[in-house]
Amino acid sequence: MRIFLSGPSGVGKSTIIQAVLARHTDIRLSISYTTRTPRPGEQDGREYFFISRASFEERVSSKSFLEWANVHDHLYGTSLDWVASMESQGYHILFDIDVQGVKQAQAQHSPGAYIMLLPPDLATLERRLKGRGTEDSHSLATRLENARQEMRSWKLYDYLVVNDRLETAIADVESIISAERLRRQAVEGRLSWLSEIG
Ligand code: ADP
Ligand code: 5GP
Repeated sequence: MRIFLSGPSGVGKSTIIQAVLARHTDIRLSISYTTRTPRPGEQDGREYFFISRASFEERVSSKSFLEWANVHDHLYGTSLDWVASMESQGYHILFDIDVQGVKQAQAQHSPGAYIMLLPPDLATLERRLKGRGTEDSHSLATRLENARQEMRSWKLYDYLVVNDRLETAIADVESIISAERLRRQAVEGRLSWLSEIG
């Protein structure tokens, strides 16, 4: 099962993802490659694999990415090998990727649930992003500018979740994951005794 989660910077994706991962040990977060520099507290191989632009471009040439995009002036890409390795171990994968990445995944007919996380309003988004205190003024402006553009693509998604009260948004994402599990069961015909009915 693949769960794709997008949303403007500062909307609460990482916060919700950490809560979901803590409760579902059979789901792994896809660790992307990026050319952006680590924020304080981020570790190579945990939040991202932090690499140079040259190394990223080599990986693009060798077709190592399931999808990749330029987001907020940095390159981000999903590793095909990493995803294949986790799926072969039986894990479900949660992807934190932007709209451009979602378009590529959908063009490849990558099955899954596509979720866009939205703020209750733009002022709240700005407050959260500033409150996180991780961006300089240039990066903050870029991220807020890109937020409107990102949210305009809401029609690409199967689900829109508003992150107003955190616990409600986490429960909403978990409901979607539960529904997706049941849908996969129907698609894959997982219940072996059903085939015995003939
Ligand atoms: P993203 O990963 O989408 O960029 P984060 O998860 O880093 O966003 O969240 C941005 C900031 O907003 C963080 O400081 C986080 O603690 C805070 N936050 C997330 N969800 C909520 C919420 N429902 N209410 C208030 N603050 C929130
Ligand atoms: P951040 O720099 O805040 O960690 O992430 C910035 C944006 O990049 C977020 O919108 C996130 O969803 C997106 N992103 C992270 N990894 C990938 C990836 O591998 N592919 C794509 N397309 N977007 C990504």
